[in-house]
Amino acid sequence: MFESTPRPVFLVDEDGLLDSMNLSAAHFLGLGGDSGEMYYSEGHSTIDRKAKGLRKPFESYLPWLKEAVSSFSEGDFSSKRLEIETNFFGSNQYFEVFFARMLDVSGKFSGILTIIDDITKRKQLEFQLNYLATTDALTGANNRRHFLERAEDEVSRVKRYARPLSFLMLDIDHFKEINDTFGHAVGDDVLRALSSECKKLLRKTDIFGRVGGEEFAAILPETTLEVATQVAERIRQALAKVEIDGHGYSVLFTVSIGIVEQEYHQNLSDIMYSADKALYEAKKTGRNKVVIGNVKT
Ligand code: GH3
Ligand code: MG
Ligand code: MG
Repeated sequence: MFESTPRPVFLVDEDGLLDSMNLSAAHFLGLGGDSGEMYYSEGHSTIDRKAKGLRKPFESYLPWLKEAVSSFSEGDFSSKRLEIETNFFGSNQYFEVFFARMLDVSGKFSGILTIIDDITKRKQLEFQLNYLATTDALTGANNRRHFLERAEDEVSRVKRYARPLSFLMLDIDHFKEINDTFGHAVGDDVLRALSSECKKLLRKTDIFGRVGGEEFAAILPETTLEVATQVAERIRQALAKVEIDGHGYSVLFTVSIGIVEQEYHQNLSDIMYSADKALYEAKKTGRNKVVIGNVKT
């Protein structure tokens, strides 16, 4: 069973030296070998190796596992399962590692059993699914659901620590006309360009999302209304300069922006309501402008 299991299995002795491994483990280490070779070949059997001092520290075979092995050895769990991320030649690999303490008949610690599963493919699939579930496919911005989730977290964090937070709501002006004049595909290019421009202008800690067809929002943590106004103004001006190719014609567009700063008692829906009102005000009073919302309303 030990030899034929497709998962790499290592038996490490009580001194942290590699006692034996199965065929999968030998292959995992890039060592050749036929089934059973580790036991039966002359000079390599478990007893021989011990007697001749041929055992090498387990960590010399798998340096990336060193920390996990020592923390398991020092701890008092009888077994442990953990995920480890490593980087081989520039690509991330993921392993699920199972450790179990081996005891001899008298209950004395006699070493550690280590089983390794390569879960890289499963992890990559998980990352891909997570990306698809949280990202708007057209613009690469957070999708509405994920944006609201993250915004909710941020708003409650701010409430707990009484930190400033500003919220920005943005809508493209007369977007319907762009679609009607140049077609839906050009409209899509506008949405993509807007998103990438906004991401460039926002900080890493800001949260940007597509919350409607041509409506976007951003949470600016640790940002007062004064600074948020400057950011919004910068975004508005930068977007007005973005040129999109519409079948040989240059397509320009503008946006209206509503901004508010969170009052300590406000929850996310209050904040979004105020920002929406400010945005509506910007539309009503001429578009292509930033309007500061009244948080009391
Ligand atoms: P306003 O200045 O008042 O915001 O006018 P508007 O034309 O931008 O507003 P309206 O809400 O009337 O139109 C929004 C348009 O956005 C209508 C819809 O077809 C378009 N739209 C929504 N989602 C998408 C999309 O994914 N791609 C494209 N190309 N258009 C979209
Ligand atoms: Mg619009
Ligand atoms: Mg709209």
